[in-house]
Amino acid sequence: MSRFLSSKFAKLDAYVPGEQPKSRSYIKLNTNESPYPPSPGVYEALAKADAERLRLYCDPTSQELRCAIAGYHGYEKENVFVASGSDDILNFAFEAWGEEAVFPDITYGFYRVFAKRHRLSYKEIPLNGDLSPDISKLNIPCTLLVIANPNAPTGLCVPLSDIRRLVEYDKNRMVLVDEAYVDFGGESAMELVLEYGNLLVVRTYSKSRSLAGLRLGYAVGNAELIKDLELLKDSTNPYNVSTLCQLLGRASLKDEEYFRSCVSRVILSREKIKSALRAYGYTVTDSKANFVFVKSQNIKGSRLYTLLRDRGILVRHFNVSPIEDYLRITVGSEEETEILIKTLGEIENENK
Ligand SMILES: *Cc1c(COP(=O)(O)O)cnc(C)c1O
Repeated sequence: MSRFLSSKFAKLDAYVPGEQPKSRSYIKLNTNESPYPPSPGVYEALAKADAERLRLYCDPTSQELRCAIAGYHGYEKENVFVASGSDDILNFAFEAWGEEAVFPDITYGFYRVFAKRHRLSYKEIPLNGDLSPDISKLNIPCTLLVIANPNAPTGLCVPLSDIRRLVEYDKNRMVLVDEAYVDFGGESAMELVLEYGNLLVVRTYSKSRSLAGLRLGYAVGNAELIKDLELLKDSTNPYNVSTLCQLLGRASLKDEEYFRSCVSRVILSREKIKSALRAYGYTVTDSKANFVFVKSQNIKGSRLYTLLRDRGILVRHFNVSPIEDYLRITVGSEEETEILIKTLGEIENENK
């Protein structure tokens, strides 16, 4: 760091994204991207896009995209906020409401980064022994509770009744439910957003819509909450969702059948991986996301990571207790799924 960096950032550790390897070609199962291409409608809209329009600034209010997302879910555009990935929304949310934040200790690593970045006080609540979030312990006084449902990297879900308990515990506390993986299983809390003024549901195009590189996320909630986010966005970068992003974001929503089919294929492969690995003796959580969370009885997490890497399969290992022996493995294509299952079978056999 330079000597000019503000001292307030001295203790800030940035989020470490999964590797995007450039050298050898790995089977890349480390960042929960979709194995399938964006929808045909996205290709078409991109081909037809008018580069001349890029001369002008994009619509800072993203009217058409917000209307399309609102219509898709059955809300009004006043209930929808869009941003450059859901990370952008989380950043604004921590800044807006996060004076005292609470989240589980094992969850999306970016929550801690945002809490530190905005210099908030925050509490990380240990998971239960079975890696599920402890709902009673999350019900403590704070200004912002953040929960990923399904959770990352465990893939485990809490039922809607638990989300309702969290929201009802204190209506003066904001509850943000990060539903990055909800399309792959679990119950959405979106149906509660008009009933409770303290609930925001956040979604992303990065996983189930095969558009991680586009950078588009959205939030659905009470109109006043959306205004809070707009205030911060307009005081940071009013043009955070580009013309192309707005265009392709709308196009993606039109291909419902394609979307459903990609999601079903991922779910099918996920279930196949879960049962095959259990049969080999691995411990596998009941993930409802587009990844599995796996532990070997015989091989340490760091070693299993390396063994897979040596065989050309890149996954994610988090060296923190109590999940240090687990790996998070993204569900890939059908072909990658076959190779993954075969490779993990061989590794387990060789290390009995
Ligand atoms: C991937 C992920 C995000 C980030 O999504 P982007 O929209 O790509 O920024 C947010 N939350 C969770 C839990 C995620 O896994």
